[in-house]
Formats: sequence, structure tokens, C-alpha cells
Amino acid sequence: MIKSIKGFNDILQVPTEVSRPSSEWRQLEHTLANVLDRFGFEQIRLPIVEETQLFARAIGDATDIVEKEMFSFTDKSDPPTPITLRPEGTAGAVRAVIEHNLLRGDAPKLWYMGPMFRYEQPQKGRYRQFHQLGVESFGSELPDADAELIAMTYMMWQDLGIDHELTLQINSLGEPEERSAYRQALVDYLTDKKADLDADSQRRLSTNPLRILDSKDSKTQAILADAPMLSDFLGADSQEHFAKVQQYLTVLGIDYEINPKLVRGLDYYNKTVFEWVTDKLGAQATVCAGGRYDGLIGQLKTLKQGDTKKPAQSAPAIGFAMGLERLLLLIQAIEPFAQTSACDVFIVAHPDVYTSGLKYAQSLRKERPDLRVKMSSATSLKSQMKKADKSGADLTVILAQDEIANQQVSIKHMQTGEQTTQPDSWLYSVDNFSVK
Ligand code: ATP
Ligand code: MG
Repeated sequence: MIKSIKGFNDILQVPTEVSRPSSEWRQLEHTLANVLDRFGFEQIRLPIVEETQLFARAIGDATDIVEKEMFSFTDKSDPPTPITLRPEGTAGAVRAVIEHNLLRGDAPKLWYMGPMFRYEQPQKGRYRQFHQLGVESFGSELPDADAELIAMTYMMWQDLGIDHELTLQINSLGEPEERSAYRQALVDYLTDKKADLDADSQRRLSTNPLRILDSKDSKTQAILADAPMLSDFLGADSQEHFAKVQQYLTVLGIDYEINPKLVRGLDYYNKTVFEWVTDKLGAQATVCAGGRYDGLIGQLKTLKQGDTKKPAQSAPAIGFAMGLERLLLLIQAIEPFAQTSACDVFIVAHPDVYTSGLKYAQSLRKERPDLRVKMSSATSLKSQMKKADKSGADLTVILAQDEIANQQVSIKHMQTGEQTTQPDSWLYSVDNFSVK
């Protein structure tokens, strides 16, 4: 039997070991899109495959994603082009913004939602195909842009009823020069202690030393307790920017913790970085993460021009991405979505008048787009009634010869079992029947 590929899950209407019901996905997506609309952000729909070098350049060669998590292939062109299933959305969004010159005029505030792909060990809250909602806000270097995105995520948590279960952690990574001075100080401090670090951190000491701050190893963390602090390396501009972000958050009533070890796994960030974390999902604690990336556009424009030219002009930007599977798991754990059936009105039609039943269902769907109207196949009345019982519908409409002859419908209220006869236009009026 052919099965799905490891880490690539079906999303069904029934919950499975690895996925929440599709109706919950739709409710989540609807709630999130509604907040994005209220902030005036615009949707962008990006390709799922991009050239491999886009991700390598944007995300950074020494990151977990590029080092070991990408699904990469070559296409059939001659010579073959290396291509990759997108592991995240920022690189593609920035590529699109440059390609279509979207930074002319009013810089865009964009969002996208869809599957991302990373070759990781599947476990609860971690899959090889997973889904993110991402937001990328271009054009402002000012800290209010940072606060706006955080305020937006906070409103999403409020609307989902999970704001009490999420903690906001923020940090500032400063500018590239500040960070590289810090990187040197950290490497100097750790070099003679290298033998006591965990294996990953030993490797990172030469490839990506800041990521050592992320290490889960307790011995490494003990060594880090006396390490130099990134915050001591921030210049006045970075410090002021970070202070301003905090002021805005305070004014908006959004609590935060400063986590001086928050560095994020991707190379393109500068200044503000943030994560929303929960203690309800075990090791998969981060549901949303983001930060500022003022240098990325310049970096990718330079890539387009060819590396011989001088660096292209950049443009400020900030973004975040949230993991939808983790959000659904968190919602399930603390504030489950109301159960909904797929049907409000079930129409049962005697096989002899089944065509009239079909016509009635079609016009009811047109007159009442607010209702979900289901019908079953033209089997016996009894077997259709059984399906109606199981459907979860509030009302069953029964149509037999008498009803059709008299232009009437028999209506069974499924909760009470009570049955009445009404003119066939009765259901067209919201006043007679509506779903709460
Ligand atoms: P983690 O530390 O958990 O691996 P990350 O830093 O790699 O996360 P980001 O690249 O910042 O994650 O992606 C943003 C969000 O996307 C994460 O906070 C998480 O909610 C979600 N996410 C990332 N990788 C996966 C995955 N393999 N499966 C499910 N969700 C994921
Ligand atoms: Mg990861």
C-alpha cells in the first residue's frame, strides 16, 4: 500500500495523531486573516519552490535550516538549476518585493499563509511539511513598526483566547558591526573552555557562535553564565530603538520579558528580535518568532546584480512567522474551538419526487447562503432519514408526493423531534430559521 511520506500529513475532518481537524484549520485561518485585515495588511501568494541560492544567501549557510533542513533538488534544465521547497517565507517575499519593484511608493505590508518544508525529525509540533502565517512589513526603520507587528500578534492571541498562555520574549541583536564585536568577545571567552561545551556548541564556535547561547545543554549554559553580554555591545542607536519598542509595548499594555540570550536561528536579523513562547507544548515551545532585517533587501539585490558591483541600497523591514500546527495544539489544550457539524439543514426527498428535492436544495442554497444544506442520494426515505439523524443538522426537510403537490415542506426539528408542515418558502426567511 502506498503511504504518505514521513512528516507529510493529511489534514482530515477527524483529528488524527498528527493533525487537528480541517474545520479547526479554517477557523484559525479565518481569525488570523481577520486581524490582518483590521491592520490593513495585504496578502501575497508566493511560489512553493525557489532557487536554492536564494535561501542559502538569505537565511545563511551556517544556520540549521540551510545546513541540514532543506528539501533541495535539481530541475531538468541544462545545466540543472538547484531548487528548494521553501523552508520559510521571508526570503521569497523579499525576492518578490525586489523583483516587482514594490518598494517604490508606499512600501508594502504583506502577509502569506501556507506550507513550509524542513527535513527535521518529526515529533509533536514538528513536521516536515508544516504551515506558517508570515508577515513582512517594509519601509520603516522606526521602532513603531516593530511594536505594530507585536501588537498584531497579541490581538491574534486575544481573539483566539490564548493570550494568557503566551509569553513575549524580546531582545536586541544590534547592528552587524556591534554583533560581530560581540561575536569576537564571545569566541574569545569560550575558546579555552571549548572542551567542556556540548558537541553542537563546539562546532558552532567556528560556524555560528551566537547560536551557542541557544544551547539546551546545562553544562554549556553554566559556562555561559559568566560570558559577555550582547547588550553591553549595543551602540546608542540600537539601545534607543530597543527602549522605544519597550515603551510602545508598555503603552499598549503588552507584557514582555527581555531574554538576553534570544538570538534566533537565522542570519538576517538585526536590532529587535522576539518570540512568543508557551510552557504547554513541551520542547516545541515557540509558536511565533520574528525580528527586524534591515540589511536583507540590500544583500539580495546585490546577489541579483552579481557580486562584483558595490552593495545595493537596502530598505528597512521587519517580519514574523507563526507555526499553525503549534497554535492548533495550544488552542486544543486550553481553549478548544466549538465543535461544528458540516450541516444545518438536511433535505430528505422520496425517490419519486427526488428531482423536486434537488431543485429545492439548490434554490435554498441560493436564497440562504448562510445555511449549509446537505442531501443524500436517492435511496429509500428510511435510509435517507438515518443519514439525516447522523448529519448533525438542526432541521430536516422532508419532501414526499403530498408536500410537492401542496407546495409545502415537512420540517423536523432534530433537537426536539417535533414536526410541522410549512409553505415551501418558509425556510427562505431568516426570521423563521437561523443558525446561531
Ligand atoms: P524551532 O526552534 O522550534 O525549530 P525555528 O526557530 O526553527 O523553531 P522559525 O524558523 O522561527 O522556527 O519558524 C517560526 C515558527 O514556525 C516556529 O516558531 C514554529 O512555531 C514553526 N515551526 C518551525 N519549524 C517547524 C516544524 N518543523 N514543524 C512545525 N512548526 C514549525
Ligand atoms: Mg528549527
